[in-house]
Parts: sequence; C-alpha cells; structure tokens
Amino acid sequence: MLIQKPLISIIIPLYNEEKMFHQLTERITNLLDSFEPSTQVVMVNDGSIDQTKYLMEILSAKDPRYKSVFLSRNHGHQLAVSAGLFCADATEAVMIIDGDLQDPPELIADFYEKLKEGYDVIYAIRKNRKEGFLLRSAFWAYYRIQKMLSNYDIPMDVGDFCMISKRVRDIIISMPEESRYLRGMRSWIGFKQYGYEYDRGERQAGQSKYSIGKRIQIGMNGIFNFSKVPIRAMYLLGFVSILISIFYLILLIYLKYTSHNLPDGYITLIFAISFFSGVQLITIGLVGEYVYRTYNQVRQRPLFIIDKVVN
Ligand code: UDP
Ligand code: MG
Repeated sequence: MLIQKPLISIIIPLYNEEKMFHQLTERITNLLDSFEPSTQVVMVNDGSIDQTKYLMEILSAKDPRYKSVFLSRNHGHQLAVSAGLFCADATEAVMIIDGDLQDPPELIADFYEKLKEGYDVIYAIRKNRKEGFLLRSAFWAYYRIQKMLSNYDIPMDVGDFCMISKRVRDIIISMPEESRYLRGMRSWIGFKQYGYEYDRGERQAGQSKYSIGKRIQIGMNGIFNFSKVPIRAMYLLGFVSILISIFYLILLIYLKYTSHNLPDGYITLIFAISFFSGVQLITIGLVGEYVYRTYNQVRQRPLFIIDKVVN
C-alpha cells in the first residue's frame, strides 16, 4: 500500500501477456527509479488464462508502486482500461499505455511537462505504424470515415495512449456508457488537448490480443457512439427515393402519351414501389431518431462540463 497518494498513475491493461511481463515491468521500474514525480502503476488483469495474474501478484507483493487489479473474466481492452482509471489513486494525472511496449512509457516526462503547461489531455498521434499493409490501410481508411461521420472532432490516427489530468479521469469514470470508446470520450470532454506525434513501435513479444471481431466492435463504437449520420442518412435516402419516384412518374406519363407503348399497370407499379420504399425509409428514420434520442438520454453523459467559473 502506498501511504501517500501518487501524483501520476500509469494504467496498463494486460491480457495473456506473460511473454511481455518481465520486459515491460523491468523497463517501467527503471523509468520509475529515475523519474522524479511519485508514480504508481495500475496493472489490470483482463481475465488472462496464462501466468500473467501470478506474475502481477508477485510483483505487487515486492514493489508497492505496482497496484494489481484483477477482473473477474475477460471484459475487453476498453473496460480493462476503464477499471484501471477507476482504481487509479493519482492526484494529478493518469497515463494509459498498452502492455506490449508499442507505446514508449518514457514519454511520461514529455507528457507530464505538457500537463504542467496547462493541457488536460495529451494524446499520442501515431506517425507511422508497424502493422502489415492491409491492417494499416484499414486503420487509415477507418479514421477518415470516422472523422467524416462524427458529430465531434475526434483526432485521427490516435489510440488510447495518452496522459489525462485528474479532472478528465474523474469525468470519464462518471460517464456510465457501456459501449466505451475511450479516445472518443476523451476528446468529447474538451478542455485544452495536445496531440503528441510519436513512432509506434512493434509489439515486443507475443501476439496481438485484438481479434478481428474485437477490432470491428471497437470500430463500431467509435462511429455509432459519436454520430447520428447513419440515422440521418436514412431520411435522406427516403427523400431521394420519393423524389426519384415522382420524376419517374412524370417521365413515364409523358412517354405513355407520346406514343410509346408501355404495358398496362407498369407506371403505377414502378411508382408505387419506389414511392413507398421512400416512405418506409423515412418512417424507419423517424423511429431511429427517437431511438437515438432515447440512447442519448439513457447513457447519461454529463450535459455540460464546466472548465472554470470566475466570480
Ligand atoms: N488487452 C486487454 N484485453 C483484451 C485485449 C487486449 O486487456 O481483451 C490489452 C493487451 O494485453 C494490451 C493492450 O490491451 O496490453 C493492447 O492490445 P494489443 O497490443 O493486443 O492490441 P493491438 O496493439 O494489436 O491493437
Ligand atoms: Mg499492441
């Protein structure tokens, strides 16, 4: 147990990272030994089925700067980080890193300096990536589509690697939404944010713990939690469909009376199909609008966040 609360907490989610563990913790221990502000590490075991949990227990018993949090089962990266945020004792700042050393923990000094300059969020922008061409292209396209669709300005090519102030940490843990996209929530909160460019390295050992399914899930969170464009697109499609049907009707009536032989019932049939498709799309969009509003209400994000009040 730490008697005095640390200034900074470093959160590391770990899922079957036994191959990474020694390398990771050795590097972080070296860093902590030379880093002045008092710092705690919060390791979160996300239901690992390998030796990770025992390694964590041994380390926490040896070094009180390492706090270990054990989740009851695998909850996924975003929830593991959320649990870490919840358990962090820091009084000034929280840093979030991956457990595979793709995010250099040594940037803590630079991030903390920025925090001291008055930034509440310092997020890391990936200048380049070490993943294969296909995955890299998919990430590239995803972040651009997300930016296009998003109602808020979520920066591109950023992950969860960041440092946030204590007050931003407090706001994030007060947001009870269950499908979490932390990098989106972080930028939604506002305040002064700083993008820090860095080279994202390769995973140092073991395999990526993100399956395709998990990546699609988090990608969908990133779009649907921050955008009403998909619902609005339904209205638009509906209106376009109705407009086309009306033009089509006029065109066919014109053709019928200018000597073209059209089979009986053809005009009515085509018109009815496209017109009522449009009507249906608009009605679904309407229902969607209510669903979206209900969703906004039930996820209970704070209505506003006050930076400061004078007098
Ligand atoms: N992770 C986790 N739970 C999961 C999947 C991943 O806690 O269900 C952790 C993992 O141990 C690592 C971090 O999240 O510390 C990022 O995962 P990974 O490096 O596998 O993702 P990638 O870099 O391939 O996107
Ligand atoms: Mg990784």
